[in-house]
Amino acid sequence: MLTRRQFLTGVGATAAVTAASLLIPLRGKPQASGMESTEKPFESIPECDWIIENVLLVDGTGDIPYYGKIAVQGECITAVGEFQAPEGVRKLDGQGLVLTPGFIDIHTHTEDYLFKDGSMAPFLAQGVTTQIGGNCGLSPLDLNQYIEKLSHAPINYGLLMGYKTIRYLAMGGHKTGKASPEVIEKMCRILADGLESGVFGLSTGLEYYPQHDATTEELIALCEVVGEHGGFYATHIRSEYDQVVSALEEAVEIGLQARVPVQYSHTKAGYERNWDKFPRLLGILEEAKKTGLDITADVYPYTYSSTDLGRKTFFHSMSEENVKMAMSHPQVFFGSDSQLYEGGRAYHPRAYGAFPRVLGRMVREEKVLSLQEAVAKMTAQPAKRLKLKDRGLLKPGFKADLVLFDQETVTDVASINNPSLFSEGIRQVWVNGKLAFAEGEVLEAAGGQFLRGVSAVSA
Ligand SMILES: [Zn+2]
Repeated sequence: MLTRRQFLTGVGATAAVTAASLLIPLRGKPQASGMESTEKPFESIPECDWIIENVLLVDGTGDIPYYGKIAVQGECITAVGEFQAPEGVRKLDGQGLVLTPGFIDIHTHTEDYLFKDGSMAPFLAQGVTTQIGGNCGLSPLDLNQYIEKLSHAPINYGLLMGYKTIRYLAMGGHKTGKASPEVIEKMCRILADGLESGVFGLSTGLEYYPQHDATTEELIALCEVVGEHGGFYATHIRSEYDQVVSALEEAVEIGLQARVPVQYSHTKAGYERNWDKFPRLLGILEEAKKTGLDITADVYPYTYSSTDLGRKTFFHSMSEENVKMAMSHPQVFFGSDSQLYEGGRAYHPRAYGAFPRVLGRMVREEKVLSLQEAVAKMTAQPAKRLKLKDRGLLKPGFKADLVLFDQETVTDVASINNPSLFSEGIRQVWVNGKLAFAEGEVLEAAGGQFLRGVSAVSA
């Protein structure tokens, strides 16, 4: 591995370093005053409360990791890389372990669990510091009550607004059949209100009752509202099995017509007879991007879904090869699709193991992708989709959501038969600068913030 200085040499990053050093509030004069000093160029002393040193920094950009340190003041990172630590501040020895931005899980169904005071321990133990709930069309009925209660959760949390919920509110119950123009208008207003309260966009689960009654035109109308508010459209498409290709084409059409970014949820081609369609799905993503659509997808690192587990004869509806192909595709990042029930019980091991499974099995053991690629897909890429301006990177000015882990040992433990077992190897997790999890224990249970999308009227 390279030190930061070795890393910078030869990539002509002088300008970038100068810019970065300007972001560090200076306590005294930088010791080195210019290029003539090769020993300690651009060194400055950052304002900070504590630092963690001797860590391998995997900063979320996808760039090559390097050894260095990080300074934190309050909620924010104030310096990254090499700098002189101010005297008297608390220093933690990172023991050469990996330090990354906190993991961002864009696809979860944890909103009820969190609202009922779920500890979020299974997620903190995976390094997850931010989650987005309200996926696949289902979100809290009373959004404002939800937001009010969750201003201080164990992790940062944000929501999408679900089509099923909006339709229920507009129709006064779950009713089958097409929505009338009046109902559609009402749904658009409810959605606009939600976006102004801070949801990140609209989610659908078009495979389910009664969401399958939504027409493409109706979804375009709703997505236009999302687009006007700077949000995105997250969709569990109309079919994940035999009709998967046309279902994804519909999502692309909605995105193009409504001019809205699309997040294709938990990408898969289910049932063995459809496995050979999977490269075509990735091809559709690439073609759509070429036509100017901002479209990305998420995938969980398992070959079976919750539905598969519930079947009498358990089977793998996805192929291992397709899951790996998705994981290493530039337009795909990770989402756990997790859900937790009372007492932290899970049915699918992904709620306890998704992120460490990527780091352990996929990166370390099978080398499906590099550590820095995997970390980018857990941090900066979902942050970009969410338009989070201060999360997802190790960078001065960014929120100190941090994960310290041992890349030699990090692993998922939860399995099909024992789905509620904690992952191992994640050593410490900070949420907004507060130590939230250390060596298997949740320490700070209220360090999270409720995250709002760009069109939120009040924050
Ligand atoms: Zn779904």
